[in-house]
Amino acid sequence: MQLSVQKDEQTEVGSYFVANYPPFSAWNAAQIPSYLAAMNAPAPKPTPPLGLYIHIPFCRKRCKFCYFRVYTDKNSSDVDTYLTELAREAELYANRTALAEREFDFVYFGGGTPSFLSAEQLERLIGRISEHWRWEHAREVTFECEPGTLKRSKLETIKSLGTTRLSLGIEHFDDEVLAIGGRAHRSSEVFQAFQWAREVGFPQINIDLIAGMVGDTQDKWKETVDQALALDADSVTIYQMEVPHNTEIARQARTSGESTPVASWSTKRWWVDYAFRIFEKAGYEISSAYTLVKHRPPLPTGEGCDADTRGDAEFVYRDALWHGADLIGTGVASFGHLAGVHYQNVDSWEGYIELLERGELPIGRAMPITDRQRLIREMILQMKLGRLDADYFRRKFGQTITNTFANAFDALQNDGLLALYGDEVLLSRAGLLRVDSLLPRFFEPQFQNVRYT
Ligand code: SF4
Repeated sequence: MQLSVQKDEQTEVGSYFVANYPPFSAWNAAQIPSYLAAMNAPAPKPTPPLGLYIHIPFCRKRCKFCYFRVYTDKNSSDVDTYLTELAREAELYANRTALAEREFDFVYFGGGTPSFLSAEQLERLIGRISEHWRWEHAREVTFECEPGTLKRSKLETIKSLGTTRLSLGIEHFDDEVLAIGGRAHRSSEVFQAFQWAREVGFPQINIDLIAGMVGDTQDKWKETVDQALALDADSVTIYQMEVPHNTEIARQARTSGESTPVASWSTKRWWVDYAFRIFEKAGYEISSAYTLVKHRPPLPTGEGCDADTRGDAEFVYRDALWHGADLIGTGVASFGHLAGVHYQNVDSWEGYIELLERGELPIGRAMPITDRQRLIREMILQMKLGRLDADYFRRKFGQTITNTFANAFDALQNDGLLALYGDEVLLSRAGLLRVDSLLPRFFEPQFQNVRYT
């Protein structure tokens, strides 16, 4: 799918969010040997941090805006099969040269819905995986949850995996908006889940919201922001609703021949800006185009009190990936990167299981990237933080980005979307709120007008 250019500000069908570079459509099966070669060669020096992503592709219901590889029709025997294959995948990574003597710096359980698994299934998965992989020294372990799948006892199991950040997919507090969007949970489950999560004592609780869900209005959004604020989460992530081609909303729009029933981009930017201002007033700081973190002075340590971990919330996985970390992505359709090679696992259930049963890593497509592509990738991802340090890129890539991309930066400066102060590039609030739409102009010419995924 091509990245949607927001000429008339209507939310058309298409991708907006830029997650990686070069575009996924440029990755292909012919490049898989590059990934296998990288896996069997010593890690480059200096060796970047290493992360682990574990994809749990099950959900109770498929949301109408979902574009991920998820399954809503699998029974517990299918789930057990999947967990067995995940463990097999971990085993196939054991003793690979590129991973020798490297520990995971961060771990991410994503989906899908990782909390779809029962406590027993989770324990079994971790028991099997830990024969090959452990993460005692990871700086961060994130676990994504759908509020309606949680119980206090399951949260205790999730915490026992070493989880440092629990991420709750709330999306909205209005039950009608949740129902229209096809979400499985309702707001009452959010309040209960959040309370349990606090009692269990995760160092960081993040909540996800989406501005512009179908049925959202200014009043409903303001109410959602108020409710989210009242939870006093450690961090808040807010996405602007987009409508990729493979979503139910896109399918309905194609069938009816009408435009999507999603608020315009200017409305969504207004809503996110409103939320940012409300959260900032309450002591949160903007940490990227999508995230706010609560500023918390560390708790005092002392006898009977070892809970000094609640300083400002961090996003280790985000910052590491946006600065070029390696990532082993496991599970069906997962994305990863190792030693300059992007890869994605096969995106079908049958294909994933079949390759693993044959004793092969389940890679579906890959792409070795050039130094220039690494630079562009890091630069556009770091722009989402709202600032760039040209000296970082000079030291790492030997290029002064403010010269190399002078035309693009000048045009954005003239439009009031960013400002240049010597080596510092600072996005304005207007620039930050539309940052994904600004990034394709930095792509190489061959990727300017291609499908993105
Ligand atoms: S819970 Fe998340 S992954 Fe599951 S269907 Fe909804 S949007 Fe997709």
